[in-house]
Amino acid sequence: MSGTHEPGVPQRGVKGVGSDPREQDRDVAEAPGKIWFRDLDEAVIEADRCIQCASCVAACPSDSIGIDEDEGRPTLVKMCTGCSRCWDFCPRSGLRYERHLELAREERALEEPATYAARADGEAAAAGQDGGVVTALLAELIEVGELDGAIVAREREDEPLRGEAFLATSREDLLAAGGSIYTQTMGLGRIEALLAEGDLGSDDPELALVGTPCMIQGATALDRYDHDPADPIALTVALMCTRSFEHGRLLSRLESFDVDPAAVETLDIGEGRLRAVDETGETLLEADVDAFDAAGLRGCDECADFVGDAADISVGNVGSDDGYTTAIVRTETGEAAWTRAATALETTAIDRPTALETLADWNRRRAESILPREFDPEASVGITYDAHREAYDGTDREPEPLNPARVHQYEEWC
Ligand SMILES: Cc1cc2nc3c(=O)[nH]c(=O)nc-3n(C[C@H](O)[C@H](O)[C@H](O)COP(=O)(O)OP(=O)(O)OC[C@H]3O[C@@H](n4cnc5c(N)ncnc54)[C@H](O)[C@@H]3O)c2cc1C
Ligand code: SF4
Ligand code: SF4
Repeated sequence: MSGTHEPGVPQRGVKGVGSDPREQDRDVAEAPGKIWFRDLDEAVIEADRCIQCASCVAACPSDSIGIDEDEGRPTLVKMCTGCSRCWDFCPRSGLRYERHLELAREERALEEPATYAARADGEAAAAGQDGGVVTALLAELIEVGELDGAIVAREREDEPLRGEAFLATSREDLLAAGGSIYTQTMGLGRIEALLAEGDLGSDDPELALVGTPCMIQGATALDRYDHDPADPIALTVALMCTRSFEHGRLLSRLESFDVDPAAVETLDIGEGRLRAVDETGETLLEADVDAFDAAGLRGCDECADFVGDAADISVGNVGSDDGYTTAIVRTETGEAAWTRAATALETTAIDRPTALETLADWNRRRAESILPREFDPEASVGITYDAHREAYDGTDREPEPLNPARVHQYEEWC
């Protein structure tokens, strides 16, 4: 697919010229109006619009973008070449994600994606957030040798309710990592590091990537345009999502309800309610999830991809009874994985399909009302720097100047 050209799509991701991730030419040493990481930082991160998907980290060909572990944000770690890739693959700037989703549907989705209510049994059901379907599916695929591992999430040992990316290579690993963590892990930006730390015994590993829909957008965009970091990803699983939380704000909000975050064993969001439970199963808090709006990542308001339309399989709880996972199997890859793991799952028809549609519609309407730019699945997949500025300048989402603490770094490297 690399190198194909959609009519009307501008050719290069540079200021005043255009932006199309498919048509990057990294051999061009100097181009007019380069886009630097600094431009992305000001337009997305400093503007408090970053959704921590790590697409920029994965897309950078010179490994110039790392992850600030304290702040959970991308940061420059060495010289930026101004190649514009971070801009081109960022769903909050250069990547028109709704167009990418449309292309993914056209190119990869089955004519009739299948939607199920499903649950695992035994340990996977107990470890999972809803029906334990993701845990059981991935465990099965690893055990039969279809996958070498899966990039999932686990809670960091040093900070309650904060997730970190984790490379699971066995059923035991997956059982330990079951359940939802409502903060981002930036797993897409850690694939190389996780593979280097792990011992998979394969030079060409096949991995599943589990994550929020925006992370799957980045992974599938990288894959679509033949970019190396996506090579090990053999299966994508999206966790349906209307928002993820900024970790510090999530803890503060819980504390404002007199809940000690360290005492929370599980957080659960479903049907508009947020529930915090301790390790004995006692409910510490049950509240309207809207009361946690201010703790959400502000960039999530611009997201219309509740179901994770680019993924091979999407999973959530909406539309199914307690103890079941709603699963959409969307591609041939997803279908093959689902069939392979069928013996590990009890599968029935989804109970309330309209609930799924209603939430997806609500999510899309929210994005359309908040996005300063036009929401247009038919427009070119790349958004130029200038077009972004034109739409966002003068709004409450316009680029913000760099944090003074970072300026010296940029003077040296950007
Ligand atoms: C931020 C967030 C918001 C969500 N919002 C909704 C919603 O509004 N409506 C809805 O129906 N469903 C939502 N979900 C999905 C839901 O919570 C369950 O993850 C889903 O139903 C699958 O359940 P399961 O029991 O099959 O998965 P499990 O068997 O529990 O497996 C889940 C897998 O996902 C991994 N994982 C958990 N959190 C993360 C993370 N942050 N990043 C990467 N991997 C992770 C785990 O390590 C585990 O391997 C959300 C999930 C997340 C993370
Ligand atoms: S939204 Fe994603 S790609 Fe954009 S700056 Fe944040 S982490 Fe990078
Ligand atoms: S709401 Fe959208 S942007 Fe926010 S974490 Fe979920 S998928 Fe990402």
